[in-house]
Amino acid sequence: MGSQNKRRRKGKVDRRQAAMNSQLELVELILGRNEHDDVVVQSSIRHLVRISRRHRLPVPESVRHLYCKTCLIPFIHGENVRTRISGGQRIVTCLSCANIRRFGGGPKFHRKQQNR
Ligand SMILES: [Zn+2]
Repeated sequence: MGSQNKRRRKGKVDRRQAAMNSQLELVELILGRNEHDDVVVQSSIRHLVRISRRHRLPVPESVRHLYCKTCLIPFIHGENVRTRISGGQRIVTCLSCANIRRFGGGPKFHRKQQNR
């Protein structure tokens, strides 16, 4: 186990594939967060972010908005997160670390003209 013979080129692909499989499992866990303990969901998010960073994979779209990128806690709407729509953007404020993220908006023509 763990010898140096595994120098096949396939290795990297396998590693990414394995990472992606783990991602999918964690995503499912996070998406079914109502059936799981908060602790489980939170550690799933941690794992997911770590796996994604280590293997340079994007965090799947379906869960990207469900946690705070800074303190890695799951968002519970109406409790630890404030969501506002302003100028065509969704502005999400994490109430535990005051981190602000803006979603959407894109090009400026999509934004409403603001009066100041
Ligand atoms: Zn936060």
